[in-house]
Amino acid sequence: MSILLNILKGKCSKCGKGDIFEKRSGISILGLPKMNYKCTNPECRHKFLIEPGYFYGAMYVSYGLTVAEGIAIYLISSIFISNPVYSFIIIAISAILLSTTNYKYARILWIYLFTKKNKELNVERKVS
Ligand SMILES: [Zn+2]
Repeated sequence: MSILLNILKGKCSKCGKGDIFEKRSGISILGLPKMNYKCTNPECRHKFLIEPGYFYGAMYVSYGLTVAEGIAIYLISSIFISNPVYSFIIIAISAILLSTTNYKYARILWIYLFTKKNKELNVERKVS
C-alpha cells in the first residue's frame, strides 16, 4: 500500500522520501514535468537515469496508461452520450490534457519496475 502511495506522490523507489520530479507552482504547472537527476534525499541520492535511453521503455507504459484512460472515459461517456463521434472527441481532448500526467507517471512506474527498495535506508527510517 505504501508503494502505491509513493508512486502517486512521485517519491523515490529506493528510499521513499526524495522526489523524482521537481515541485512546480504557478504557470509552470502547464509545462512538461521536470525530472530530478538524482533523488532529493541526501542519504539516498539514487540516480534515476541509469543509462542513456533508459526511459524509452516508459513510452510503452505511457501508451498503456493512455489506452486505459481512453477505455474508462469511453465507458463513462457512453452512459451520457450515444453518438460515438462525441465520445471520440472527448477521448481525444482528454488524451491531450492527460499527456503530461501520463508522461510523469509512466516514468515513475518505469523506475519502480526496475529498481528495488533499499532495505538499509528503510531500517534507518524506522529507527529514527
Ligand atoms: Zn531516494
